[in-house]
Amino acid sequence: MGNLSLTFLGTGTSQGIPVIGCDCEVCSSPDTKDKRYRSSVLICDKESTTQICIDAGTDFRIQMLQNDVKYLDAILITHAHIDHIGGLDEVRSFNYIQQKSIPLYVNMPAYQGIREMFSYVFKAQHYPGIPEFDMRLVTEPFKIGNFTIEPVEVLHHKLPVLAYRIGKLAYITDAKTISTKEKAKLKGVQTLIVNGLRREEHFSHFTLQEALNLIEEINPKQAYITHISHYLGKHKDTQMSLPANVFLAYDGLTIIEEY
Ligand SMILES: [Zn+2]
Ligand SMILES: [Zn+2]
Ligand SMILES: [Zn+2]
Repeated sequence: MGNLSLTFLGTGTSQGIPVIGCDCEVCSSPDTKDKRYRSSVLICDKESTTQICIDAGTDFRIQMLQNDVKYLDAILITHAHIDHIGGLDEVRSFNYIQQKSIPLYVNMPAYQGIREMFSYVFKAQHYPGIPEFDMRLVTEPFKIGNFTIEPVEVLHHKLPVLAYRIGKLAYITDAKTISTKEKAKLKGVQTLIVNGLRREEHFSHFTLQEALNLIEEINPKQAYITHISHYLGKHKDTQMSLPANVFLAYDGLTIIEEY
């Protein structure tokens, strides 16, 4: 038991905000909370200096630099879409500093997706300087430092995606449906982070209302919405429409929870 800190490195959907070429009121907003990198979080345990992140998308390099991340014990991968793994080549820097491969926790579809997308990493003949991944298939709870991490499977349309629970905190992204069996693993969560793309229906992502429905069902002390599209509207306006214990996450926000 102890406290962990979680920092949102990115809270945007696959295109990020602003979207290239878009001049809507969100993409042109001067509010820094309306600027969103691709979704990722950094989780640290101050006591044991364990430091992990969830996903390493297209903005991974700038997220590591802006948050002054100098080492990583592991990366927990949710799924192999480019906005969640597109930055994995950058783990070269951590390979060099730490002089070892980086553990990547994955489910089977993510294992296969990473092998396809980064096929050069897995060639028999290694080009010097390419990243080194240590892929670990997740089938049950596992430990990293003092953290015990419980995987929860959610569905992104038909694709199985891993959500992760650490103590009283759970991080769910790119979910559209969650089975009753998997939902039971979220019982007692006090801080729930969940994707809420926009208000309009989407085939593979929770809408804001679907995210709010899950929050009501799990009934945490507080909840944070992430993986946000520019269609959701400006941060300030959307925040005002939410229940008192629900917050729109924003890049750079840090929260503390027990584990
Ligand atoms: Zn995504
Ligand atoms: Zn826009
Ligand atoms: Zn996705």
